[in-house]
Amino acid sequence: MLGVIGGGQLGRMLAMAARRMNVRTAVWTGGLEAPAVEIADEVIDLPFDDPQALEHFCEVSTVATVEFENIPHATLQAVAARMPLHPSPQAIATCQNRESEKNFLRANGIPCTDFHVVTTAGELAAAMRALAGPGVLKTASFGYDGGGQIKLKGNENPEDIWQAFNSPRGVLEAWVDFEMELSVMIARAADGGMVTYDPAENQHRAHILDLSIVPARVPGAVADEAAAIARKVAAALDYQGIMGVEFFLKPGGALLVNEIAPRPHNSGHHTLDACATSQFEQQLRMVLGLPAGSTRLVSPVAMLNLLGDMWPEETTPPDWLPLFADGEAFLHLYGKHHARLRRKMGHANILGKTAEDALSRALALKNRWLEQAAGRRKPAGHA
Ligand code: AMP
Repeated sequence: MLGVIGGGQLGRMLAMAARRMNVRTAVWTGGLEAPAVEIADEVIDLPFDDPQALEHFCEVSTVATVEFENIPHATLQAVAARMPLHPSPQAIATCQNRESEKNFLRANGIPCTDFHVVTTAGELAAAMRALAGPGVLKTASFGYDGGGQIKLKGNENPEDIWQAFNSPRGVLEAWVDFEMELSVMIARAADGGMVTYDPAENQHRAHILDLSIVPARVPGAVADEAAAIARKVAAALDYQGIMGVEFFLKPGGALLVNEIAPRPHNSGHHTLDACATSQFEQQLRMVLGLPAGSTRLVSPVAMLNLLGDMWPEETTPPDWLPLFADGEAFLHLYGKHHARLRRKMGHANILGKTAEDALSRALALKNRWLEQAAGRRKPAGHA
């Protein structure tokens, strides 16, 4: 029984990969709404700090992993004391907090955006002076999908910004005028062997991933460099499992690491239809100590996130017929019943002869669905 801490769509797709191979899963939801419960063999629907939940989880699971990183460190340590947990609590803790992640990158000589940790208005003032330009103030602990971020021109009053920020610790980052955002999925095995997937070119809208295009439209040298940096990150974390490394590509070709996801990642969803081994099967293989599967890209692909914004009504899905009519577009839905704006409801993988071909068909679908949903009333409890 594979114990999965977290019950979101990543856990759902991991459980589906497991089910295909007769691996049973126990999903610990944290008490949150959990798309994985429809697939799991065992559900523990309690908060992550609940001692009974911990006991139950440890009793039924033989090996464990996480599908999101915001889990109390004490819980991770308690699980790791009872069974193998991959990735390790240490690796998860490093990536769980923006401050520790940035410090880890800097300490290991991995290129990342210039940053300053700030805990008072005075420190923010000093950091803004040091930056001497635009930046973005982010919470030290992770906000979800761009939550807790304030963009700064650099000439604001630090007192006012600190007041509005309303969080005890922040990381002020230099603003990067990037040419492209990229990510690399990398899997590292118990013996240190690593495989990487082709980099994805990621387009965000309002801080949320909108589209991933694979292969990323970058020179081979940039793709190689991104893979090399991802390997360095995974090795420095002594990582076991799959991981997503997100990058900014600057004009001129330099890469900066933006964020590390110690789990399967949204920008790896194309692997379900376009790669020899999906990121979820790969995670399963890594966590169970099996050899890695091939990461070969079988077809260029565009992955379109299906956000709640595309739903004409909160409980009425878009018209999927054009997607099915395409023939090389594949629908993945997460079983969520209420389509709030910005909520990730599913994704579509659109295969193409080239990345451009896949992208243009993905955009046609996206625009059609957005148009059909235009004018939708703003639902209460927007998340
Ligand atoms: P994050 O939550 O830190 O991954 O940020 C979400 C998105 O905001 C990124 O994918 C970028 O599109 C944008 N962003 C974040 N930090 C920066 C930065 N320092 N410079 C430019 N854009 C940024």
